Amino acid sequence: MLLFFGYDFALKVVIDEKVGLNSFNWLFFYIHSVSIYMEFETYGRVSIGVIKSDRRAIVIDSGIDENDIRKVLNKLNEEGYTVDGVYLTHSHSDHSGGAFFAVKRGINVYSSRIEADLIMNPSILNVMISGFYNYEFARSKFVTPERSKILYVENQVNFGNESVKVIDLRGHTLGQVGYQADEIMFAGDSLFSIETLEKHPIPYVLDVPMYLQTLERLKSFTGKIIVSHMGLLEDNLKTINFNIDRIKEIKDVFWDISSNGRTIDEVIRAILNRFNSNRHVLNYFLDATTIKSIIFSYGIISYRDGTLMVEPKR
Ligand SMILES: [Zn+2]
Repeated sequence: MLLFFGYDFALKVVIDEKVGLNSFNWLFFYIHSVSIYMEFETYGRVSIGVIKSDRRAIVIDSGIDENDIRKVLNKLNEEGYTVDGVYLTHSHSDHSGGAFFAVKRGINVYSSRIEADLIMNPSILNVMISGFYNYEFARSKFVTPERSKILYVENQVNFGNESVKVIDLRGHTLGQVGYQADEIMFAGDSLFSIETLEKHPIPYVLDVPMYLQTLERLKSFTGKIIVSHMGLLEDNLKTINFNIDRIKEIKDVFWDISSNGRTIDEVIRAILNRFNSNRHVLNYFLDATTIKSIIFSYGIISYRDGTLMVEPKR
């Protein structure tokens, strides 16, 4: 079986050395996001995965639009591979925006039920990010993927001589999954590289307690982990702990400032200022989602004089 991520041959050598797997060839393909609408370059480069077996292949994630998935599909075609399907980790547009193109080429695209339903109804995804629907805000490909027909993936994907396990990695989104071939897991956005978190300190998380549970489970995974942004992790445990600690740091700011009660807006402002993360409108919505998940998971909320007050749950 050959598993690779794109076509950057220079990086391939480095990755081969790091991984040291004889039966695997590694290539990396980073998508350089050129457009910077509301800074969804937040998560800049996104990997597309390919798993090959016996002249058949499956592709993992599809990039933000048709451009990168087209290159991947064309390359596989030139090499004589039949693509059995495209499998998405989750519905966010930088992973699912190219799905429609694969469907146009006659290739089935799959994801978990909840993520598939979102890509088939992408305006709901927009509402999830902002809490309302606004066409101007919604129409960017950086917020809303092209609508596409998506099939539901089950627990396992069989193709060629291989079977790939579908791993539940909920937290970043409600139906996030990873794909595990042998001892290598493509983990999507279930966690972020240290480099990504240093650049973008507040990860987008819909359900923080679930995200932490997923990270705890990943600790016992002894194979190699690929994350969508930045690729192969050098040290799984170090990266997992960095992700857990970052959530703890955000939670600590919330607990420190709200011991006598604060409004939710005050807590959000304090955390954004502390992490220097309040840069743009979209970033605000993304960061505030994680902060609100923390507030509602670890705080006591009350309604007073037209505002929501919060204090730590002791
Ligand atoms: Zn995502």
